[in-house]
Amino acid sequence: MERAVADELRAALASARAWLRESIEEGVESYARSAPRPSEPLPPAAGSVALESSSPSAPAQRTLEISPWGEHPTLADVRAALGECTRCRLAEGRNRIVFGDGAPDADLLFVGEGPGEQEDRQGLPFVGRAGELLTQMIEKGLKVPRSAVYICNIVKCRPPNNRTPLSDEVAACRPFLDGQIDAVRPKVIVALGKPATSLLLGRDVSITRVRGIWQDYRGHPVMPTFHPAFLLRQYTAENRRLVWEDLKSALGRARELGGRIPELG
Ligand code: URA
Repeated sequence: MERAVADELRAALASARAWLRESIEEGVESYARSAPRPSEPLPPAAGSVALESSSPSAPAQRTLEISPWGEHPTLADVRAALGECTRCRLAEGRNRIVFGDGAPDADLLFVGEGPGEQEDRQGLPFVGRAGELLTQMIEKGLKVPRSAVYICNIVKCRPPNNRTPLSDEVAACRPFLDGQIDAVRPKVIVALGKPATSLLLGRDVSITRVRGIWQDYRGHPVMPTFHPAFLLRQYTAENRRLVWEDLKSALGRARELGGRIPELG
């Protein structure tokens, strides 16, 4: 009897270790008590109609975009609609709303998870350590000025202790991310990490499995890749190579689609 209990405990411990390993691999920094369970689906994209793709290099299906923001909102329209937002609990702990940064007509749009401490202080996305790495990858790697791309997050206010945003917080902020995408109309979206990728794909994903594989969000090609914060923690030659491949594909595809993305001199 005691042996059976010990076996059960060993098995539970092994599966907890495996789960923890996968979470670390996927860049999850913390789980709040009421965080969505990994299998909980995120809200689906509103107003999408599936279409067959005609291009062999494109994802199997593209979607026709039906914007709740009308024909072509501007970033100013979307920012004004967001206002001094109190739609979710993240408003309570924030210093600044972190809306987005970059060219309003960028052909490459990066979506991260949510502001961290520096971002919350400065009101700008990706300006802390992870942001410095992202900026380096864009400027030193791709040789594109950061100011020529657009950078935003799935939530615009800092989650306490940088925890992963909860599904209701993500859902409350989602219309504003959609508005930003509708305003910027990028040729390609780069989804940074598991939460951004899961949101855009409408399902809980393993970032290690989907990174590097083209996806679609409301008619926009999406390239999922590792979050720079994950890369900082697991700064291996292999991880750097994978992200580099993903970013090169994203830039190449945006240019193939007619994007005019300036080169750094
Ligand atoms: N991590 C994010 O996902 N977004 C930021 O703006 C900063 C760090």
